[in-house]
Order: sequence, then structure tokens, then C-alpha cells
Amino acid sequence: MIKITLPDGSVREYAAGSTAMDVAKSISEGLAKKVLAAKINGEVWDATRPIENDSTLKLLTWDDDDGKSTFWHSSAHLMAEAVQSVFPHAKFWVGPPIDKGFYYDMDLGDTKMSEEDLLVLEKKMNEFAKQNNPYTRKAMPKAEAVKYFTDKGDEYKLDLLTNLNDGEISFYTQGSFTDLCRGPHIPSTGAIKAIKLNSIAGAYWKGDEKNKQLTRVYGVTFPNQKELDEYLLMLEEAKKRDHRKLGKELGIFTMDDDVGQGLPLWLPNGTIIIEELEKLAKETESAGGYKRVVTPHIAKESMYLTSGHLPYYADSMFPPMEMDGTKYYLKAMNCPHHHKIFDTGQKSYKDLPYRLAEYGTCYRYEQSGELFGLMRVRCLHMNDAHIYCTKEQFGDEFRAVNEMYLKYFKIFGVEKYVMRLSLHDPEKLGQKYINEPELWLETEDLVRRVLIESGIPFVEVKGEGAFYGPKIDVQIWSAIGREFTLATNQVDFAQGRRFKLSYTNLNNEPEVPLIIHRAPLGTHERFIGFLLEHYAGKFPTWLAPLQVSILPISDKYLDYANTILKSLKNADIRAEIDDRNEKIGKKIRDTEMMKVPYMLVVGEKEMNEGKVSIRRQGKGDLGARPLGDFLAELTSEIKDRRSE
Ligand SMILES: [Zn+2]
Ligand SMILES: [Zn+2]
Repeated sequence: MIKITLPDGSVREYAAGSTAMDVAKSISEGLAKKVLAAKINGEVWDATRPIENDSTLKLLTWDDDDGKSTFWHSSAHLMAEAVQSVFPHAKFWVGPPIDKGFYYDMDLGDTKMSEEDLLVLEKKMNEFAKQNNPYTRKAMPKAEAVKYFTDKGDEYKLDLLTNLNDGEISFYTQGSFTDLCRGPHIPSTGAIKAIKLNSIAGAYWKGDEKNKQLTRVYGVTFPNQKELDEYLLMLEEAKKRDHRKLGKELGIFTMDDDVGQGLPLWLPNGTIIIEELEKLAKETESAGGYKRVVTPHIAKESMYLTSGHLPYYADSMFPPMEMDGTKYYLKAMNCPHHHKIFDTGQKSYKDLPYRLAEYGTCYRYEQSGELFGLMRVRCLHMNDAHIYCTKEQFGDEFRAVNEMYLKYFKIFGVEKYVMRLSLHDPEKLGQKYINEPELWLETEDLVRRVLIESGIPFVEVKGEGAFYGPKIDVQIWSAIGREFTLATNQVDFAQGRRFKLSYTNLNNEPEVPLIIHRAPLGTHERFIGFLLEHYAGKFPTWLAPLQVSILPISDKYLDYANTILKSLKNADIRAEIDDRNEKIGKKIRDTEMMKVPYMLVVGEKEMNEGKVSIRRQGKGDLGARPLGDFLAELTSEIKDRRSE
């Protein structure tokens, strides 16, 4: 018999070789029907895989992230089965789950897959899903696996095998499709009830432009039709709100081939948004006791060797430039520069917490296939700051960082958010995690307590912390329910030591400070990309590049329009006159297209009465008001950064 410990702490006994599915069935048949996989001793396993030893067990369903990933990865296998039936010569590379769905990269030889093929494949997938074929696992010695794929002439799977050792190799079969895979998978295909293949793309093998281009098919599946319908509706809305489309229409940013891929040029309208965001950050950080700094965009190799970014992070950095026999790197993060600033002059406990902030420009080498609008770029402006503090100060500092997040969420109308707290794994101390068992537990506990006290929804993930401390990923949802990873906060026990940073403590001894890395507004690139979707381009007045458009009915009222413009400009409001020789109806339509929050229509009546006729974006005609009243309300709306 083996002992199985469930998440509530209860222990049950089962025959050795029982599966998670057996455990589920012993609890209830209804639950068993929903089980997709299981977490056994912290590792995600097939629900049908025999358990031989005492273990902890958590059943995974569609409601768990790991359940969804398993479902989507299994769907990738199902799609491969369909592809194999339509394109028998196809060779398969990898088919991982992604944030929403899955993809599979494959080599179709000279065949080109079309959009129509996707419909055929969907149909096949539905057919195979209904067969409710089990996903069966078979362990295989390496030699046998190599022979299998050599006979098949599959250079891709042979390549995957080179990195695997005997004892690590497993095959999974469902229906007529067999794949080399470490798993896990769902019990059988019948759980996949709704299928949508989204798109076909090219993807270089291993993400390397020098390699052959493979065909990548993206898809998503659900356990019921209703969720697929909702998803498709959201997708349609997301298309309308696509940040690349809106960014172009509204003159926010552009990309130019001569500048380079992933290097956005911020246009005047985008720059206004950037400056408003920085103003908000500066105000907030100044109130929070941060000091601002400015640091160079490059640094010598030696600094990144000290920080440990080299050689480990070299793949994500631009290659070095050499000058006078010294290598310089474009900075991929601001931390080392800030540490150097902390290190100027002896610090005592009285100087702590020491908070350094900078909207730092960083450069990261992202594979060209990974670049995506503003979401994945090679040059980014980060709302960065580093807080150097004592262990005793850590709780309060972390709490203040959280409060800053909540303040921002409120301003931007972010209603749904979750913090993912990634913890260390005690068994891997000294290898994957810096060997500071007490500090880990202490800070993790503080972070957890602060999150609970602040009422911030959070999930804990064991074994995903950074090497040098717990990590908090902040996920937010846009107004149409799409999820974005906004920023990552980190607690850092290691960098202080690597940079030999110290302060004199109360007992007059040198001590290494704790460092908090935080970036609540993420990067301008990703955050403005998010805001474009979130607001559908209809920015609240305080952020809108053009806040007021004055529309004279004819040239006769231009002088009056200019008087209004002057008053608005004096009040620091971004305004323009539409003096084109167009009908007022067209002026209104065009201004609406540009999503300007306010339009002031002026004609004979308004001029004679010293009034303006106000039209509000999304609300229509608000009637005529004295200019002074409008100005007073507008100024307070902007000052308070109100959304309406
Ligand atoms: Zn698999
Ligand atoms: Zn940092």
C-alpha cells in the first residue's frame, strides 16, 4: 500500500500502482470526469500513470493553470494526428501549450498549408476527439527510440533525442499518432469538445533565422462550446482593439526597417502618453521617497560579469562593441548601474531604505520570430526602481510597493489582477536557489502576509522563484478580458553580495542590504500596448494626446475659436482648431475617429453667448455651456486623472 497526501492534509491509502484517476474515483465519479492531470510531489503527471511510492497529490482540472496547459498540449497532439492524416509526409518538431491554446511546428516539405486546410484539420480533430482515444505512455530505451525515428527518417525527433538520456524517454500514443514526449497528457481525447485553429505562421527551426522555416499552426480548444464562443467573441473585439492597428491610426508609434526590427519609434502622440505616464510615476515615486537617477545605456563587460548577467544572460543581450580593447554592452537591465550608485559613499542604516528610480532604457536581444508590436521589442523603457533596505524594513517597503500597484490599477481601471508569488524549493537550495534557507522562509512569509493583508488576490507557485529570491509576477486583465503580464517584482539576496554592497548597521558592523526590484508600470512599450487595447484607443482625457478639438462651423467663427484655444492652452490643455474647409458633420466624424475626448462646436449662437457646445467622446452632445465652466471641470478631470 502507498500513502497519498491530499492538499487538505488528509492521508489515504491505496494499492501501489494506483493512479490519480483511481484516487479521484474513490472521492467521486463526478470529480473523476473532470480530472485532466495531477500534481504528484509537485510535478505534473498523467492522471493515468501508476504511482508507486508515498506521494502528495493534487488533482488538476480545467480550473487549474496546469490542467489547462495539459489540456492544450494534449490538443497539440490531437492536431498533429489530424495533420498526419491529411499530410502523411509531415514531420513534427515541438507542440507546446501557450498562454491561450497551443501550437505545433512542423515540416511539410514542399506543401504549403492554406487557411482552408485549417477547416479540414478542425473537422478531423473533432472526429478524432469523439473517438475518445486514450493517451497512452510508453517508456523506451534510447537506442530503440533512435532506431524508431531513424527508420522513419525523422531528423527533428532525432535531434530532440540527442539531449535526452536513457530513462528519460517516453512515447505517447493516441489513436494513430505516436510522438516522442515527456508528457503529461489528459486521459483521453474525448475531453476536447470545442476546437478552433487560429492561424498559420512561419517559424524558424529552433528560432534561428539561419535554419529552415517550419510551418506553425496555432489553435485553442475548450471542454465546452460555450467557452469557445466567448473566446471567439473576445477575439473579434481584440482585433478591433489591436494595439498595432490603433497605434498606427492614432499616430502612437511606428516601426521602420532602417531603424530595425523591434525598435519602435514613438511618434508625437505616443510621446505625449509616455510623458504623462512618466509624470504620474515621478509624482508617485517622489511621494514614496524615491530619488531619481539617470544612467548610461552601456557598460563594460566587467560589470555584467560581476552581476552574473554574463555569461548566463548573454543570449538575451546585444553582442558587445569593442573600443580601446574593452568590451561594452548595451544594458539589458538597470540594476547594476543602480547598485553602483548605491555604492558611492558609505551608507549607514540611517540612509536606508534607499530608493533609486529611473525610467531606464534597456536593450534585449529577442529572436526576430518572437517580436510582436509593442509587446515584444528589443528596446524598452522600464518603470524601474531598486529599493535597498534592511531585513526589518522589508515588510513595509514591500507593502508600499503593493500600494503603488493598487493606486495605479485604480487610475487605469484595471479591475482584475493576480499576483503570482514564485517561491523556492527547499530541496534545491544551493543549486537552483541561493543557500539562505532562513532568509527565503522569512521573506516569503513577509510577502505572503503583505499580500493577504492588502487583500490582493495571489497564487503561490513552489519552485519557480528566481535564483536570488522570491519573484512576484503581476498579471492584469484588459477591459475585454485578455490577460497581460505587466511586471515582475523581485526580492534579491544575491546581487548585494556580488556587488559587495554594504551599510553600517546599528552595531556598527557592515551588512549587505536586501534589494527589491520593482516596476509597477512595466515598460512603456508593453503598458501602452495594453492601454491601447484596454481603452480601445479612447484614452481618458489626462492621457489623450489631443484633449480638445475646437470645431468652428465656418471661417466666420475662427477668431472666436482662437480665443477659446488661447484659454485652453493657458490652462495647459492640449487643444487644436479644426480649420479645414469641411462641413461640421465631417469634422465631427473625423475627430471621433481620432478618439479625441472633447469637441467644442462653435458657431453664431455660441460666439454671441460666450459659450461652447460640448460633444464628449462616447456620450455625444452635452449641450452648450459657458467656456469658463467647461474649463474648470476639464481642469479638475485632468488633474484627478479621472476616467470619465
Ligand atoms: Zn506531449
Ligand atoms: Zn532590477
